[in-house]
Amino acid sequence: MNIQENISLKPFNTFGIDKKARFFIQATSENDILQALEKAKELNLPLIILGGGSNILLTKDLNAIVLKIEINGIQLVKETDEEVFVEVGAGENWHEFVLHCIKNEWAGVENLSLIPGTVGASPMQNIGAYGIEIKEVFHCLKAINRITGREEIFFWEDCRFGYRESVFKNDLKDQYIITKVEFKLKKKPTFHTEYGAIAHTLEEMNITELSIKSISDAVIKIRQSKLPDPKVIGNAGSFFKNPTISVDRFEKIKSNYPMVPGFPNDEGVKIPAAWLIEQSGWKGKTFGKIGVHKLQPLVLVNYGGGDGKEIAELSKQIQASIEEKFGILLHAEVNFL
Ligand SMILES: Cc1cc2nc3c(=O)[nH]c(=O)nc-3n(C[C@H](O)[C@H](O)[C@H](O)COP(=O)(O)OP(=O)(O)OC[C@H]3O[C@@H](n4cnc5c(N)ncnc54)[C@H](O)[C@@H]3O)c2cc1C
Repeated sequence: MNIQENISLKPFNTFGIDKKARFFIQATSENDILQALEKAKELNLPLIILGGGSNILLTKDLNAIVLKIEINGIQLVKETDEEVFVEVGAGENWHEFVLHCIKNEWAGVENLSLIPGTVGASPMQNIGAYGIEIKEVFHCLKAINRITGREEIFFWEDCRFGYRESVFKNDLKDQYIITKVEFKLKKKPTFHTEYGAIAHTLEEMNITELSIKSISDAVIKIRQSKLPDPKVIGNAGSFFKNPTISVDRFEKIKSNYPMVPGFPNDEGVKIPAAWLIEQSGWKGKTFGKIGVHKLQPLVLVNYGGGDGKEIAELSKQIQASIEEKFGILLHAEVNFL
């Protein structure tokens, strides 16, 4: 196990924030993880888990051991007439995994094309896009208990998935290190083209025969046109979750803003956080080296050399202004470190 000291985490987070880790370890096996747990105990330092760094905001240097999970491997573990069960190392790149599924004609994750990050982080916040969440293809995961060092298996119901939520962000926060995730994929696809601009984009691309490859291509095209590429402008995707409010409150807002978009769900009405941010005048605002993206107000950006603390401060100002104007508290989707 190779331990590096005082290294910059700039290449390891998509915001491109230049903060340091006191110690940095890349784990390619379960054994590396166990050694890192020992080291953290020996040095009496916190152990912080890192995947692709696409859902974190670094606000300070980390006086900790940062453990980057790089366990690889994609293995077909079981097959029936209708389904395949595929176990994937937590360190595999999510989009590469999606492409692997498409190549093998395993259906279910094509709508989740081009989401940055690793497979191991995907159950953490039940990643989702274009009408699909990973809870729909998730079978189970293996994780190391940080106290006992033992491997445990979590099945679907154990994970308590919700909208950008799982048990690992709540009751079991910082207690497990995910090493492998097993997905249940379909041999015969069910196409989901009803969400977002997928159908329209397929038409534009002159695609008349649907396939998981054509849906993936359409999703990639939409995402590339809508979202800033972290390689060009630092960002972590949607900074806030879309809030669900009561029907009463929604109607009240509608009386002042007849065009307010709303999507009824079991708990009330979901409002796009992007709409709230835009209505509050933040879209495209720049503050030195950071700002709110000019096309996608849900995305906070680092134009280069920006500070994580300033981005955190900006996010608080946005939250406060939306609470004042609409009485709605936005919750961050991004994890602050
Ligand atoms: C341009 C852009 C677009 C995005 N679009 C979407 C989208 O459409 N839908 C969506 O859901 N998300 C989206 N995201 C957010 C992000 O891609 C996902 O949250 C992704 O799953 C994060 O993966 P990661 O490996 O980068 O996690 P990291 O940022 O490294 O970590 C995220 C959290 O998970 C923990 N963690 C990571 N790996 C493990 C592990 N193996 N075991 C235990 N804990 C772990 C970390 O400690 C941290 O708390 C987007 C991000 C960007 C930059």
